[in-house]
Amino acid sequence: MGNSALVKGALLCAVSTCVAACYSESDRSSSRSPATPVTQRSPQPSDADTRSNAVEIDPEALLTIAEKTDFTATSTLDQTVAFLKQLLPHLPEMKLSSFGTSAEGREMPLVIISKERAFTPEKARATGKPILLIQNGIHAGEIDGKDACLMMLRDLVLGKHRWILDVATLLIVPIYNVDGHERISPYNRPNQDGPLDGMGFRTTTQGLDLNRDHIKLVSPEARALVRLFNKWLPNLHVDNHVTDGCDHDWVLTYAWCEAPQLAPPIHEWIANHMPAVMSALEKRGHQNGPYVWLNDSNDPEKGFKTGVASPRLSTAYFALRNRPSILIEMHAYKPYKQRVMANRDFLIELIREIGASPRHLIDAVQRADAIKTTLGKPGAVPSDMVLSYEIGKVTEPLSFPIYKSHLAPSIVTGKPMIRYERGLVDEKEVPWSHGILAQAAVPRPRGYLLLRGWPQIEARLEAHGITVLQLTEPVEVSVETMRIKNPRYEKDTYQGEIRVQVDVARTQETRQFTAGTLWIPADQPDFEVAAQLLEPEAPDSLVQWGKLRSILEIKTYVSPQVLEARAAELIKDPEIAQAWKQALKDKVFAKDQRARHRWWYRRTKYWDTGVGLLPAMRVMENPTFTTRPWQPHR
Ligand SMILES: [Zn+2]
Repeated sequence: MGNSALVKGALLCAVSTCVAACYSESDRSSSRSPATPVTQRSPQPSDADTRSNAVEIDPEALLTIAEKTDFTATSTLDQTVAFLKQLLPHLPEMKLSSFGTSAEGREMPLVIISKERAFTPEKARATGKPILLIQNGIHAGEIDGKDACLMMLRDLVLGKHRWILDVATLLIVPIYNVDGHERISPYNRPNQDGPLDGMGFRTTTQGLDLNRDHIKLVSPEARALVRLFNKWLPNLHVDNHVTDGCDHDWVLTYAWCEAPQLAPPIHEWIANHMPAVMSALEKRGHQNGPYVWLNDSNDPEKGFKTGVASPRLSTAYFALRNRPSILIEMHAYKPYKQRVMANRDFLIELIREIGASPRHLIDAVQRADAIKTTLGKPGAVPSDMVLSYEIGKVTEPLSFPIYKSHLAPSIVTGKPMIRYERGLVDEKEVPWSHGILAQAAVPRPRGYLLLRGWPQIEARLEAHGITVLQLTEPVEVSVETMRIKNPRYEKDTYQGEIRVQVDVARTQETRQFTAGTLWIPADQPDFEVAAQLLEPEAPDSLVQWGKLRSILEIKTYVSPQVLEARAAELIKDPEIAQAWKQALKDKVFAKDQRARHRWWYRRTKYWDTGVGLLPAMRVMENPTFTTRPWQPHR
């Protein structure tokens, strides 16, 4: 079912502290030489592989908490780490580490799997194998992926799926939102069928949704994940979730970005490989299909859509960083055991597909990085840079195994509401809207000159791993400035922030820049991450997240008496007199004393031209200034 629905390339989205001391940071690398680079097409692996040197292990002793409880419970962080440590003596290809510390001070565990014991990024890359980042529990109550990974790792110990070790280096984050994970309750996920004894909470202790924090990086957890990514530069990212929505027969749904939001080689890789993964998963008995929303929650006949993600979400953030990022949404209404098994089998089939042609993935990522870099090189053909996307106009039939439904009055709303008859499939061919279109775009600059004095910008450029340089001497440069005005603040906070919409005026002007001014060159793979931070039209820009609000404030003041004297001089200019006459025709303006005062103040030489002026300035010509590496001061 899922495969018929999957159109080629057409989808997108939707410890306590005691443990710290127990993690070993020591590199257990052996004297083995690195594996020879993988060939273009490796032999198809078989699950019947067994370890030639398997040690006697009692499988009963290596059951996960979920398995021991018939999937009514899931392991706590301590239990998860204890389980992983239990595997360690039997799995020398595994290293248990930590990649960061949560807001509450918990260590964030990281499992590295490498046949060659290549437990550093450099050694892992030297194996020639792809590096895969599998992330679980960004929403800690949606924890199927953790139990799936624990079972998969245990099975390696028991000699199953040992071919996985030949395919790739795995970075497994068993629990990303560790603080939320420990806030266990059976009442955290009202729409989710298990684990019945309880699961973690969606957000961090502060109430931050880590899957909205990939660009603004407010949380220590998100900064740790991006640091992990920068260090290892994995070739592919998987983000395991659980979702509810309408009721249907699919146990697993999936989404990813597509071109133009995704670099063409990554789009092609997904189109060429993911259908095979989903087909293999279906053959294993796990129904799957795209992650969709009903256009009308009461009427499936009106069809479905797959929306567009902005880079605050993992799928779009790692797409921005030129990687396939696979969003998995297990279906919350299915029992926990069924979900975990399907999630595990998905991971196995994904790794199997990658193993069939690992070079395809590595090459796709290399080409995507190279394409992005080339677009920003001095002398490159001018191109546009897309800042935001909207859902495309593609509508096509989707064969959907939705459950039979009828309308019945709702106690809550008093209106008719859809009711599903779980298990009774009423397969429908329904219109499915998807695809991605560019919404806001700007000409790609050769880079940004960034004025000093904005630590909130500098910290994020550094955290995202952007290459930043510094001017070695003062220069005069023609730049495109961006001035923001007419702020519309959101009434309610979102993620603890007051988001703001603004109007933007862009002007070409020649300005003086001091030595030490920062320079963000466009010829780097992740330049568009900088653009998403700095261009105010981008949905996750620092402007829109309200991180640059002080720019909009007027800091200086002129007394009415002083202004009056200035106005008396200025109005002698016929042009100003005419403009004033014109301005007064606006009745609202004419009655607004503040606006009248500001109108004159703006025309004096005392007006602060820094109001609304963004410190990042676009350089559209090939840069001629000299630079040196930037050493961020802390
Ligand atoms: Zn989620």
